[in-house]
Amino acid sequence: MITCYIGLGGNIANALGTPKQHIANAIVAFYASPHFANVTASSLYQSKAFGVTDQPDFFNAVVKVDTDLAPLALLDFCQSLESAAKRTRLRHWGERSLDVDVLLYGDDTINHARLTVPHEGLFARNFVLIPMLELDPTLMVNGQKLADLPTSQQWQGLEKLTVV
Ligand code: ATP
Ligand code: CA
Ligand code: CA
Repeated sequence: MITCYIGLGGNIANALGTPKQHIANAIVAFYASPHFANVTASSLYQSKAFGVTDQPDFFNAVVKVDTDLAPLALLDFCQSLESAAKRTRLRHWGERSLDVDVLLYGDDTINHARLTVPHEGLFARNFVLIPMLELDPTLMVNGQKLADLPTSQQWQGLEKLTVV
């Protein structure tokens, strides 16, 4: 089994639910699949849209899992969750019901046409780094402690939500 980090995000509701519900459904799918063990989810976060800013705030979470899936099979699973949430692609970095990204696949570096790991945005995105560090404050990538990255301390546009 390989330990992986998966990023979940979304900012529009559709007939199947709100962005928070899409994220909750995705987390349940990891628990339900026999390919994942030791599933742990971060808190839910709310973030200002990044890149394309004229769209609703995003909800984000990160899930840590152990998996027996190979990298591309894991990507297929992640994309099946996006399809299950009826994701439609309107514009690059635009609004979506559910985005599921492979952030880390063990210590592997992957450069494939369909899959870049570690995820390219990881080091610069506080809505990814901060939930990852909530799951493991000592997490290292390529010999670098994520907690030492400046982005890990920057909460601009990001808010941790309290679940009631
Ligand atoms: P970003 O990748 O900057 O977060 P995005 O999530 O909006 O942007 P998508 O439209 O969801 O981008 O994905 C485009 C393609 O990225 C996917 O079809 C997939 O093949 C590829 N991809 C490459 N690396 C990864 C990864 N680590 N996780 C998920 N998809 C990836
Ligand atoms: Ca993404
Ligand atoms: Ca994506």
